[in-house]
Amino acid sequence: DSEVKRKPDWIRVKAPVSKGYAETKNIVKSKGLATVCEEAACPNIGECWDKKHATIMILGDTCTRACAFCNVKTGLPGAIDPHEAENTGKAAAEMGLNHIVITSVDRDDLDDGGAQHFVDVIESIRRQSPGTTIEILTPDFLRKPKEAVEKVIDVKPDVFNHNLETVPRLYLSIRPGARYFHSLRLLEKVKERDPNQFTKSGIMVGLGETKEEVMQVMDDMRSAGIDFLTIGQYLQPTRKHAPVDRFVTPEEFKTYESIARAKGFLMVSASPLTRSSYHADADFAQMKAA
Ligand code: SF4
Ligand code: SF4
Repeated sequence: DSEVKRKPDWIRVKAPVSKGYAETKNIVKSKGLATVCEEAACPNIGECWDKKHATIMILGDTCTRACAFCNVKTGLPGAIDPHEAENTGKAAAEMGLNHIVITSVDRDDLDDGGAQHFVDVIESIRRQSPGTTIEILTPDFLRKPKEAVEKVIDVKPDVFNHNLETVPRLYLSIRPGARYFHSLRLLEKVKERDPNQFTKSGIMVGLGETKEEVMQVMDDMRSAGIDFLTIGQYLQPTRKHAPVDRFVTPEEFKTYESIARAKGFLMVSASPLTRSSYHADADFAQMKAA
């Protein structure tokens, strides 16, 4: 049994009690939607939901993979909810969102990995809430990456995000079932399909990686043309998950941020509580203006 490390003072979160939080919870629930905010037990839920910023998880709540850092349940997923695309568009419209993040579990059981469903959801949001910019945080489409990328990019999401999650050395223990270079290549394929498509990726730190390895990942990302980088502290969701190796200090995050900016990323978000979708709305607005 691994010992759970005490969280340092700089990992402080607001309790989810506000009116905005309750409203977001209501809409999510009434539309029968799943969110990463809840499934991943994200520490930012109080702050994000208060501002009506949520990350919707499509394609069900059961994943075919079992990453060592992730709280989503593993198993054989059921059929895709036929109303999910429609309801996601409705929720975006009702919440009056400027920006929405759509993600999914991995669906290795589906031939297209769920790519067509991403397309349906994007089109539904466009139709029902044309003012909302759309960020998709995709699985790695391991079976047919080229076809999936083409399908999804051709309906032009505003941001294509796919996380590398950690440094290549730790893949076997942290992200089994995934391949570092496959994920990197997926992001590169997006730029090849449409050079104007914004791409984004992120990693967690505190899993045992070295600073040199993080810098190598940054270089790999830049050579794949990735525009936007997020780096956040890994937190162990339960005792069954990978233990935290260490808490990276706020100063170290600042150093990572300045190194990344110097390497040419358009936007960098690096802090203990940074998550792939944290402040994604404000960051996208800033990136577009840059
Ligand atoms: Fe949800 Fe992302 Fe905010 Fe966490 S950071 S609460 S996952 S929107
Ligand atoms: Fe979690 Fe994604 Fe890994 Fe599935 S593939 S276990 S949803 S991180």
